[in-house]
Amino acid sequence: MNKNADRQRSSTAGVAREAAPDRDQGRYKATSSAAPAYGSASGGRPGARHQAPRRHEPIDPRVVYADLLEDLEERNQGFAWACCPFHDDRRPSLCVNLESGWYKCHSSSCGETGSNIVGFVGRLLGLEYAEARRHLETHYGS
Ligand SMILES: [Zn+2]
Repeated sequence: MNKNADRQRSSTAGVAREAAPDRDQGRYKATSSAAPAYGSASGGRPGARHQAPRRHEPIDPRVVYADLLEDLEERNQGFAWACCPFHDDRRPSLCVNLESGWYKCHSSSCGETGSNIVGFVGRLLGLEYAEARRHLETHYGS
């Protein structure tokens, strides 16, 4: 019953451990990449830079598309459809890949397409690539 309370206590203990810097440094082994929860609390910790985590694609396209496309519906594995925001669409003609961020509108009058979520957001919000990337990191980054 008190599992949640226990969890909270152990994460608090983790924070307390960080407060003892010298003792911790020696045992700083490479954090396994299979620990996604780890990064969520790192706001701007100075020590975090040394770790150089894999920053290939920090944004999860699935999260962004689900947020921006209200009628998003996953059909095949990894692929979802929604009404295209780039033209007046009544039936879902926009196909997106929830893993890579690739998107393509199948309407012949539109045909909007791109290879990643940054391009999509840039197009949607009228932002430059770098701006769109920053927007994504601000709103959807971990
Ligand atoms: Zn379209």
